[in-house]
Amino acid sequence: MAERSLIRALRGGNSTKIVTLNGKKLKKMPSALEKLTGLRSLDLQNNQIPKMCPQLSTLTQFQHMKLREFYCEGNPLFRKQPIYAGQQEDLWNLREITARFIMNQLEERNSFIMNAIEEYPDIKDKISQGQKCAICEKSFLTTWLECVQFVHPSKTWKISKNLKLIPLRVLLCSQRCFCQRGPNVFGIA
Ligand SMILES: [Zn+2]
Repeated sequence: MAERSLIRALRGGNSTKIVTLNGKKLKKMPSALEKLTGLRSLDLQNNQIPKMCPQLSTLTQFQHMKLREFYCEGNPLFRKQPIYAGQQEDLWNLREITARFIMNQLEERNSFIMNAIEEYPDIKDKISQGQKCAICEKSFLTTWLECVQFVHPSKTWKISKNLKLIPLRVLLCSQRCFCQRGPNVFGIA
C-alpha cells in the first residue's frame, strides 16, 4: 500500500505538501521524496527504516524552510544497545588547561584576572566561546564529553503525543563528572 500512497504523492509534484507513510513496513526512506520540493509534512512513523536517506537532507535543510514537520518515531534509527565505557584519564592540552583556569577564575570574579584580560582582547574573544559542564557547572573550551540525556517533554511543547522521551545534548567537562552523571545520561561514542 505504501507504493500507492507514494505514487499519489509523486503525481502531485511540487504541490504535494503532506506525505503520510505511517506503518507501511518500509525498510528504507523512499528517495523519490526528494522530488517533492514543496513538501511541508512527512510522516514515516512505525516503519522499519534503519537510517536516514541522504537525499532527504535536501528537504530538511533548515535555511530553505521547506519541511516543517517530520515524524520518524517507531523506526530502528538508532541502536538501543548501551555499551560499557572504559574509564579514561582526562588529558587536556596546555591551552585547554589555561583556558579553564582563566574562565573559572573570571567566574569567581578574581579581580587580577578580570583586569588582566582587558589587555588581551584575542583571549577574551576565545574564552567567550567556552561552555559550561552540565554537572559541575565549570567552564571548558575545546575538550568535553558529549552525552545525551533523555527527558520527558514539557506539556507546552508542540510535539507528537507518541514521543515519551526527548534526547537532549549534554556536555560534560571531564571523566570525573561523567562518573557522577544521572541514570538518564549516556555518553556518545
Ligand atoms: Zn564538570
